[in-house]
Amino acid sequence: MGGAAGSGSEEAGLGSAAARQAARELAAAGRLFYDRAWSMGTSSNYSVRLSREPLRLLVTASGKDKGALDPERDFVIVDAEARAVEPAGARPSAETWLHVVLAELPETGAVLHTHGVWGTVLTDRMEGAKELVIEGFEMLKGLDGVTTHEHRERVAIFENTQEIATLAKEVRARLAAGDPALRHGFLMRRHGLYTWGRTLFDARRQVEIFEFLFECLGRRGM
Ligand SMILES: [Zn+2]
Repeated sequence: MGGAAGSGSEEAGLGSAAARQAARELAAAGRLFYDRAWSMGTSSNYSVRLSREPLRLLVTASGKDKGALDPERDFVIVDAEARAVEPAGARPSAETWLHVVLAELPETGAVLHTHGVWGTVLTDRMEGAKELVIEGFEMLKGLDGVTTHEHRERVAIFENTQEIATLAKEVRARLAAGDPALRHGFLMRRHGLYTWGRTLFDARRQVEIFEFLFECLGRRGM
């Protein structure tokens, strides 16, 4: 999977090879997530970072069916202020600010957000809890840099909100402080997961790992 952590100074427009490849790969991820019921209806959103300077992200346009994303029509390029750069007048998802904040991390090439059942159920059941702790599972080794099942993964839980820009500022501050509960991803209560990776492949693997682990905890009864 290429085209993720671009650093070039040229503007990568929607017609560029990098953007077209990213759109095709995100559409493929959407089909998988839809089939697994992690992105039902038009919920959730995905992005790939096209460039760092200036920051440009290819992100799913608002309200698109994630099981049938059209690489030619259903993506928007946004800037560091979460504004649409191309196509002009396009409407990025309301949650684009979170993608921007995560893409500011030097190592981020892609950000994926899903609305899975088990993350929704767990955070509903854990009313008031600020994080979910997962430990002892072999599948933890699918998270970037984790080499043993004895790892203790802390996953921050944020309260769900319509004030995404405010939430994004809080996420940015906690990332800057090196908060260990935001190492690989975070949850929004009764809403879903955000995770990110160096490449889209890495981010997609982490969606699969997290959704698997959430289901394990949920089926076990926590
Ligand atoms: Zn969402």
